[in-house]
Amino acid sequence: PNTNLPSVAGSRLTVPLTDGTQVQYANLDHAASAPCLNAVQQAVDEFLPWYASVHRGAGFASQVSTKIYERARQVVREFVGARRTDEVVFTRNTTDALNLLARALPANTSVVVFDTDHHAALLPWRGPHVYRVTPTAEVERDLDEALARTPTGPRLVVVTGATNVTGELWPVTRLAAVARRHGARIALDAAQLAPHRPVDVRELDVDYVVLSGHKLYAPFGAGALVGRPDWLRAANPYLAGGGATRLVTERAVSWNYGPERHEAGSPNVVGAYALAVACQTLGRSWDAVVAHEEELLARLRTGLASIPGVRQLSILGADTPRVGVVSFTVEGHDPGLVAAYLSAEHGIGVRDGAFCAHIAVNRLTEGRALRASLGLGSTAEHVDRLLTALRRLVTDGPAGHYELVDGRYAP
Ligand code: PMP
Repeated sequence: PNTNLPSVAGSRLTVPLTDGTQVQYANLDHAASAPCLNAVQQAVDEFLPWYASVHRGAGFASQVSTKIYERARQVVREFVGARRTDEVVFTRNTTDALNLLARALPANTSVVVFDTDHHAALLPWRGPHVYRVTPTAEVERDLDEALARTPTGPRLVVVTGATNVTGELWPVTRLAAVARRHGARIALDAAQLAPHRPVDVRELDVDYVVLSGHKLYAPFGAGALVGRPDWLRAANPYLAGGGATRLVTERAVSWNYGPERHEAGSPNVVGAYALAVACQTLGRSWDAVVAHEEELLARLRTGLASIPGVRQLSILGADTPRVGVVSFTVEGHDPGLVAAYLSAEHGIGVRDGAFCAHIAVNRLTEGRALRASLGLGSTAEHVDRLLTALRRLVTDGPAGHYELVDGRYAP
């Protein structure tokens, strides 16, 4: 066992099976939301009695909370290798962060986005200058051609670091170089990359990066947008309200310039702290985190490839490097039914459906698939259990009978 591997809460949870027994829960759904790190749980537990409103109160708890909140900003800044001048804005999640960025774009910005992306990256952009690119095996050329069609004016390219459908890593540095040649800025959706690999905005040469705490082994409700300050400072506040203002008179409002401009309302201090502790913990353990995942991913991919009728999905080509996320179909078996069978008869949690990336999943298969995703809560036993269960399914079918109830299969 890898002793430097951060541990997560819930690794001993047991779940009931249809035969009346209990088994240890095999959580193979890290890509949706990752379990909480024990270090995060402990830190949050200690902080909970202390939280108070930030920036305003003079009381001791308010001072503690303000320090913790602003320190969390620095931790996130370091975690993504941000430039000194980059702004770190706390948001609810990645979706929120990308919508904030979309609202902060200068007028007439052309936005180029790959149509296989998560809806959070695909949908926030509005106006006449949104260009959707269908990726081929030559994504740099695809991007180059799309950018060549954009009118003069500001341009933004949106790229996903690792897709949540297939786990494939996108060639971010090379795509950033293409963007630069066209004078475009580049925003990196790191929701799925950041839990699996170090992210460094300077090394990748991207202008913005967004991420979600709940995919990074912290609870729900906190994410971040990190990047160039100029557009953010020139834009209208994302939300209007207290905290975002410098001065309000009967006649006028002047808004803050820092990250507070886009953080109106009492912020999620506990969430920001949890996110920061997760960043620190992962940041100290990358070698172990990556080694653990690569070992399990190889086991999973090889195992799936040996099962007749199981097909693994790929957008950029089967040899593309990827994080521990694998989507697949099982010939002759509905993905929803397979997911229900894995849960009810084997205590395995996977995801089924279109993963908020409808265009990608429709293009790769008939609109729905299964997804197994690995992380710090995964073990070789979980992977082996999944493989055994799938082998049994393709030879014998499920033991139980499953029916559609409210659109989901249930035993
Ligand atoms: N982008 C990617 C690649 C994702 O995997 C997800 C979450 N599935 C998101 C964006 C959206 O994240 P959130 O739901 O936390 O806003």
